[in-house]
Amino acid sequence: MEIIDGNQIAASINRELHAEVASLTGRKPCLALVRVGEDPASVSYVKKKEKTAAEIGVTSRIILPPITITQGELFRLIDELNENSTVDGILVQSPLPPHLDEVAVFRRVNPEKDVDGFNTVNLGKIAQEDSSGFVACTPAGIMELLARSHVDLNGKHVVVLGRSLIVGKPIALLALQKKTGANATVTICHSATQNLPAITRQADVLIAAIGRPNFVTATMIKPGAVVIDVGINRLADPSKKSGYRLTGDVNFSEVAPLCSKITPVPGGVGPMTVAMLMQNTVKAFRLRSSR
Ligand code: NDP
Repeated sequence: MEIIDGNQIAASINRELHAEVASLTGRKPCLALVRVGEDPASVSYVKKKEKTAAEIGVTSRIILPPITITQGELFRLIDELNENSTVDGILVQSPLPPHLDEVAVFRRVNPEKDVDGFNTVNLGKIAQEDSSGFVACTPAGIMELLARSHVDLNGKHVVVLGRSLIVGKPIALLALQKKTGANATVTICHSATQNLPAITRQADVLIAAIGRPNFVTATMIKPGAVVIDVGINRLADPSKKSGYRLTGDVNFSEVAPLCSKITPVPGGVGPMTVAMLMQNTVKAFRLRSSR
């Protein structure tokens, strides 16, 4: 069994990006990070993105509207960033507070600056197998993690747990694409799926993205499977300085011995998501500069 080291793979991508950014003369790529309110997970994600951007040489602009911001005000803020010629990428940290329509906000971002890949245009480009767009960072990170871990999906049965717009649906579409590294047979499961273990036991590659700690257990695994754990669940743990510990959707200690490869939480998919955000920002910069 091999533990896929997302930290190491993300670090090598970040090094590649750093070299690319260092070779640019003049203006550097610029990423605008919009975080509404003080959700603790969002605070830590945005900090991590800001820190990684600095390491790579990408300029970041942090915008922190109050939790009381209205939909109209947030739209105006996004419009300004869309118009600003010094901003290459825009990320609005999810989740937004419940009074804001998140999907409408994602649609408002100019598709050419949509480095998060949640705009309708970019999600549509995945379905059309058009690589000119931006692939959502977590699904893109999973595909990169698989490729760099020499997992070829061709002809494999990939079972995806979860059908969100952010992870489940785009990763299913990417695995399904008719191209090298993909070309899988894909099953998507969700909360209404019946007899889930019978389906997951057929998976050559199981991707768990449901947000339920330790949900995937040994009885749900085909021996030799590759397991990608996307879940990030915060469980109270008074022994930790932060007061919590991170746990995936997979019961790692039970499942790992059965797998050929598995990602840990933390240190698996998470760092790849940030690396892909940086890759998309550099891509946005290049596309805009070439016009
Ligand atoms: P959502 O809550 O948007 O979606 C969860 C999905 O899981 C839904 O489709 C839901 O089904 C399905 N689901 C819930 N319970 C079950 C169940 N018992 N059996 C089968 N399916 C179930 O979550 P996200 O996709 O945004 O995130 C999923 C997890 O991934 C979270 O832990 C999140 O923190 C993590 N995450 C990690 C990232 C990373 O960088 N590593 C990035 C993004 C997310 P239904 O549609 O029927 O409700």
